[in-house]
Amino acid sequence: MTSSLIPVATLGTPRIGPRRELKVALESHWAGETSEAALLETAAKLRAENWARQKARGVTVIPSNDFSLYDQVLDTSVMVGAVPGIYGWRSGKVPLETYFAMARGARTEAQDACCGHAHHAHGGAGAGVPAQEMTKWFDTNYHYMVPELEPGQRFEIGALKPVEEYREAKALGHETRPVLLGPVTFLKLAKSRTPGFNTLDLLPGLLPVYVDILRRLASSGAQWVQMDEPCLVLDLDDATREALRRTYGAIALALPNLKIMLATYFGALDDNLETALSLPVAGLHLDLARAPEQLDVVAAKAPLGLVLSLGVIDGRNVWRANLPALVHRLEKVVAQRGTDHVQLAPSCSLLHVPIDLEQETALDADVKSWLAFSLQKMDELAVLSAALSGQGESVRAQLEASADAAAARKASTKVHNAAVEARMAAVTADMARRKHSYAARAKVQRPRFGLPAFPTTTIGSFPQTADVRKARSAHARGQMDDAAYAAFLREETARTVKWQEEIGLDVLVHGEFERNDMVQYFGEQLSGFAFTRHGWVQSYGSRYVRPPILFGDVARPKPMTVEWWRYAQSLTQKPMKGMLTGPVTILNWSFVRDDVPRSEACKQIALAIRDEVQDLERAGAAMIQIDEAALREGLPLRRAQWKHYLDWAVEAFRLCSSGVADETQIHTHMCYSEFNDIIDAIGAMDADVISIETSRSKMELLEAFTSYKYPNEIGPGVYDIHSPRVPTVDEMDELIILARKRLADEQIWINPDCGLKTRKWEEVRPALVNMVAAARAARARAH
Ligand code: GLN
Ligand code: ZN
Repeated sequence: MTSSLIPVATLGTPRIGPRRELKVALESHWAGETSEAALLETAAKLRAENWARQKARGVTVIPSNDFSLYDQVLDTSVMVGAVPGIYGWRSGKVPLETYFAMARGARTEAQDACCGHAHHAHGGAGAGVPAQEMTKWFDTNYHYMVPELEPGQRFEIGALKPVEEYREAKALGHETRPVLLGPVTFLKLAKSRTPGFNTLDLLPGLLPVYVDILRRLASSGAQWVQMDEPCLVLDLDDATREALRRTYGAIALALPNLKIMLATYFGALDDNLETALSLPVAGLHLDLARAPEQLDVVAAKAPLGLVLSLGVIDGRNVWRANLPALVHRLEKVVAQRGTDHVQLAPSCSLLHVPIDLEQETALDADVKSWLAFSLQKMDELAVLSAALSGQGESVRAQLEASADAAAARKASTKVHNAAVEARMAAVTADMARRKHSYAARAKVQRPRFGLPAFPTTTIGSFPQTADVRKARSAHARGQMDDAAYAAFLREETARTVKWQEEIGLDVLVHGEFERNDMVQYFGEQLSGFAFTRHGWVQSYGSRYVRPPILFGDVARPKPMTVEWWRYAQSLTQKPMKGMLTGPVTILNWSFVRDDVPRSEACKQIALAIRDEVQDLERAGAAMIQIDEAALREGLPLRRAQWKHYLDWAVEAFRLCSSGVADETQIHTHMCYSEFNDIIDAIGAMDADVISIETSRSKMELLEAFTSYKYPNEIGPGVYDIHSPRVPTVDEMDELIILARKRLADEQIWINPDCGLKTRKWEEVRPALVNMVAAARAARARAH
């Protein structure tokens, strides 16, 4: 006799379309080429296909309202009418135009991130309506629009999207479980312009709107609603726990028959478990990929009537699961609770993985056999469900194939490189220490370079113009041969070097024209990385990235940047910085193998970068910059885990940067502005020079560096490259004056906030000319 099948849920699916259909539709609409109706039609088609695909793959708990035209947090702001006054909405349905103004601002050109990774907030500068602030969604590389709430904020329904999409699915024959971002997480993610205001205080006004939406869902026929409260994996205070109890108490009271699946993800419940279990909900979703160890304790404590959603398939990573091992792990909890009181699911929404592995026809066949993207993960869940529901025979072949792939991956020489493993074992502590302290190094570096006070430099990239992009894609398509492409790049580089010299910059860069992306460029030259053709995941809005897949031991078969550096240096007498991406950033912007700790994978990358650093030094590079744009992003969600992360991350940086002589100057660059809580780690990296983002905060963030007494050199960005605006000499001079109040003159470098690749030459030229003038003015004053 067979019991009923364990339900299979996805929690949420990628919305962008297998061929980035949503991006195309959005961007042509924004460009004024297509109507709103055409955009909405494409969106509806994508949803319909998405639902149909899930049904076909055996998903039985299909989500609705997981789709978004831009971002699910923005959708929530609009749903509850949290539309700041500047967008001009008063009441009623929020128009699509308003929605996009919140997402992108009214002036689109002011909206870009420095390198496509959007690792920091963007937003409009200058005239027009600015976009809402954007920030990372927990520890993912997805970015959401930060809700903006004020004391006395009124909430009212501004959109019925969840209800409309539930009905839309129903009309297509799909009974779905709508997904809502829970009110407590929503309030916790929000910010206020009023200092000291706790957005959680707005809960009483917000709850009725949620209840209203839930009531409409229930009366439309919804049996279950998924409420996402990922805040349950964070360090919470009592007020937040109380807010959770109040919220779910109120919902249960208002809608006693509606079943709530409370979804937690991105970590363990840990000290919030009691709170989660005290809530009057019908189901609880657990992330068992990030926190597998919580299964036993939750299963022991959760009442048997509570449906446990077992998030065992990794929703954050691309690896195929070992299904027989999972069956083995889950048998007990299924036996305990019965097939009707468990569900199978990815650890979190599948939003964070690419859509379909089958599209990757060019991927190495072995590597491909170790991977699963969103659709393959659905297949895995269906197999798991059959196996755990007493129908293991019907899926025996799939179970065996899964175990075979896991075994093959474990044994593969593509994954394991004996030379790398031997090298890892031979790493000693002194390899991660410069020979002498910064003070001693500065004594040999200063006379070597003879730089003026307040030396000027840039962060590395120069405008990636349409010409540069065109040449790159022509080369990639085989329409431009290697020689012609190299000649083109050499010419761009030469022109840029000459121009930097002409305007009087002190330390030059080659411009990075040969790089598609600061991580991909290195990943493509390292062994152990694979790349997809269609493996896009949403970074924010219509911006998608294709993260490299780090599947094996990392080695550097040959130098990666030395020839470009040598060429660039041959064009000038001024110092030319070698330009590298650091190991932590490469790691944090990749899908990382799950068979070794992240710290180990990072250390392997560090060794490869170390080789590059030493080769650059041998070739004559006297200054080498190692960018760690994503170091802060990797911080764990729980404070208690920060130290461990920072320890190994800093150690990896030191390992890659310390194999050089005292007179070689190591630079690093970080494009963000929050250093207060990680300043010890920044100090411990011991780079000779660090350039950081400061112009938007008017040097405020230098506080951290001053109170910590950061001893090395710092280039606080004086030119906000996130805006097309050209800063004046006076403005930058002001910023230099502010920096001089906080730092010693010998410490200060003058540079932009970040690389210039997203800017236009027309903006960059006058801005850098002004920057040099500002540095000269500061020098004149200092004497
Ligand atoms: N060197 C890189 C550039 O200039 C750094 C970019 C970054 O940190 N995001 O583009
Ligand atoms: Zn930067």
